[in-house]
Amino acid sequence: MTCPRIEIDLEKIKENTINTVARCKEHGINVVGVTKVFCGFTEIAIALVDGGVNMLADSRMKNIKKLRNIDIPKMLLRIPMLSEIQDVIEYVDISLISKIETAEKISEIAVRKDKIHKVILMIDLGDLREGIFYENENLIFETVEKILKLDGVSLIGIGTNLSCYGGVIPTSVNLGTLIEIKQKIQNKFDVSLDIISGGNSASLSLLQNDNMPKGINHLRLGASLSLGIGLNDAQIEGLYYDAFKVIVEIVEVMEKPSTPVGLIGLDSFGRRPVFKDLGIRKRAICAIGKQDIFPENLIPVDKDIIILGSSSDHLILDITDSHQNYDLGDTISFDVTYGGCLSVMTSEYVEKIFL
Ligand SMILES: *Cc1c(COP(=O)(O)O)cnc(C)c1O
Repeated sequence: MTCPRIEIDLEKIKENTINTVARCKEHGINVVGVTKVFCGFTEIAIALVDGGVNMLADSRMKNIKKLRNIDIPKMLLRIPMLSEIQDVIEYVDISLISKIETAEKISEIAVRKDKIHKVILMIDLGDLREGIFYENENLIFETVEKILKLDGVSLIGIGTNLSCYGGVIPTSVNLGTLIEIKQKIQNKFDVSLDIISGGNSASLSLLQNDNMPKGINHLRLGASLSLGIGLNDAQIEGLYYDAFKVIVEIVEVMEKPSTPVGLIGLDSFGRRPVFKDLGIRKRAICAIGKQDIFPENLIPVDKDIIILGSSSDHLILDITDSHQNYDLGDTISFDVTYGGCLSVMTSEYVEKIFL
């Protein structure tokens, strides 16, 4: 079979989804299935739908367009570029926004197309990515007031995103603030905000000790459903973390010294490499490289393999301690991190195989 390839176990992803959707339902939480970690491949998106999500979400319009034949509402996770709103109105049901200018542009085009576009206003609770900073209540109220006056736009809720840029951990305190903001908006404007979207897979950690504040009724989940991981990339109990496997082929096995010979300058990625002298070691070179995935994002299934590094097209492993007798032409399997899954799924050089 073609190498390098990524084998995707759709049944495991479906199981993860069934399990997570059921847990969330117990807490009154609706789950949106996030497809960006696997570039919106429809085979996998369908596994999420079969597992019970009632909406699909992605950050990129190119991925959302791939999902257009799956008959379920779509959400755009990244604030739309003003230049893509035409497409957004066409292919997306709900957008996350933070600036009134974005809402105005949505209104203008939605009215022209005789459509009503749903929006969720993002509140930044301290992670410092998108949203109006939570302390700036005047700006929040001002923005809500203006959105409510727009034709073609329906404000259906507020939301937040944590554990992304700033690494801020979701807690009952910061998510509690989101609920307070919702109540203030409802009191001030006599509207009902149906959706209070409490974040991504990291927020699932609050379900564990029943710390999810009452009122959060919506989560946008990608890493947990696909890779079984949540807060701090820790594995979530009861979920498969190995639905994605990268398989690479060995193109050279040789014994060599563990430190290079000669004056050391910069490597192919402009860094000055450092080496530990462990004497002569048995090394394997595999046909995959940084163009496809950075080596720190690969996790060998054979725990006795050490990843030494890679260049654009070559992955170099120390296989001295392995009990397997790897040879030229053999394959080696890896689990992947979130970033690894993202880059391998993006690489056109890695074959996608759906199991
Ligand atoms: C990526 C993203 C998510 C999903 O995050 P996971 O950690 O994969 O669950 C949710 N919301 C927004 C706004 C995102 O950009």
